[in-house]
Amino acid sequence: MNQIKTGKLIRQFRTEMHLTQKQLAERINVSDKAVSKWERGNGCPDISLLSALAELFGTDIRVLLSGEIEKNESEKGDMRKLKFYLCKKCGNMIIAASDASVTCCGAKLSAAEPAERELLKAEDIGGEWYITSDHPMTKEHYISFVAYVNDSSAMIFRQYPEWNLQCTLPMYRSGTLLCNCIKCGLFAQKISPAQKQVK
Ligand SMILES: [Zn+2]
Ligand SMILES: [Zn+2]
Repeated sequence: MNQIKTGKLIRQFRTEMHLTQKQLAERINVSDKAVSKWERGNGCPDISLLSALAELFGTDIRVLLSGEIEKNESEKGDMRKLKFYLCKKCGNMIIAASDASVTCCGAKLSAAEPAERELLKAEDIGGEWYITSDHPMTKEHYISFVAYVNDSSAMIFRQYPEWNLQCTLPMYRSGTLLCNCIKCGLFAQKISPAQKQVK
């Protein structure tokens, strides 16, 4: 591994999350001096801290070790390019890494094109997002799933009619929130940690 490169990447990810060195240190239970040392390429986090950092940043431990974001993350495929195939007849959902030929209930499905709209509200509850929405959740008209996608991961949260829409997700650097209404279709909005007051 290259300590200088790893340090630079830690600094980049930390600033993308609008965390101070102290705030990052508190999240993973180390001193802010340790974070400052790593970022200057002066020593390196041990393996257990690297995995904690990778989880916090929403990336892969190999990305941190190599200090190179594009190469490693592109090898895994860009999750932001996921395609959602949704069957209106039976409610089935098929997710593909790229264009695919998908058939359900005897009909060929085409990938849903998400419209940009902020249907979901994201609240910072201390390192996690709490997601809610004012959208109807009746039997005839409801959001069937919420998805969170970034460059290295994807999560799906099933939702149920007659229950309030809610889910909790880890706060990564940035990503896209999607939700699917059985009537209105698929919607997408950007999500990233807000600029926090630096004390
Ligand atoms: Zn179907
Ligand atoms: Zn709707």
